[in-house]
Amino acid sequence: MKQITDGVYQFQGMAAGGVYLITDGDGLTLVDTGMPNAPNQIIRQMKRAGYAPTDIKRILITHSHMDHIGGLAKLKTISGAEVIASAAEKPDIEQVIAVDRVVNDGDILGEVMGGLQVIATPGHSAGHTVYWQPDRRILFIGDALMNWFGRLSMPFEKPTLDMEQAKESARQIAALEPSIVCFGHGPALTENTAAEITAFAAHRL
Ligand SMILES: [Zn+2]
Repeated sequence: MKQITDGVYQFQGMAAGGVYLITDGDGLTLVDTGMPNAPNQIIRQMKRAGYAPTDIKRILITHSHMDHIGGLAKLKTISGAEVIASAAEKPDIEQVIAVDRVVNDGDILGEVMGGLQVIATPGHSAGHTVYWQPDRRILFIGDALMNWFGRLSMPFEKPTLDMEQAKESARQIAALEPSIVCFGHGPALTENTAAEITAFAAHRL
């Protein structure tokens, strides 16, 4: 695992789909689960850091694409964690495993990072959701934007449901002025983040 900031880690060697571990909170929280082969790597890296799979108390899903929920069924089975996702993503996620708790725009997950806010960012998928810690300005962005090869971009056209709506969500995200952004694709942004995203929104949306 690579530390992004205090209490936030990114798993290494994922084939696609970034997976994050939040250690700050009541038990451990995962954000997304990568491809179907990701759980072995996730568990191995957690063990190396001194954690057991059963330390995972909840799994937050940004959206139901396979590179984000591929490892979900296995991780849920070995951890017993609560699966949390939006109502619009629930039917597709439930092709692989049950969603335990549905969240809506504006909800606050008080047990994670002292209050992690749920923000609906539809467009890439109908119920795409980002998770935002407002005091530390940390954003788990899923595929609302990518940092593919270290360059900000909109998500790929093909898997994106409604690109105009996705751009509107991207503008909403830029207005948050995040300090740290953890992407589903590409390395986290930790420096000059708000300026880069603001510039992207101003010139490329
Ligand atoms: Zn996606």
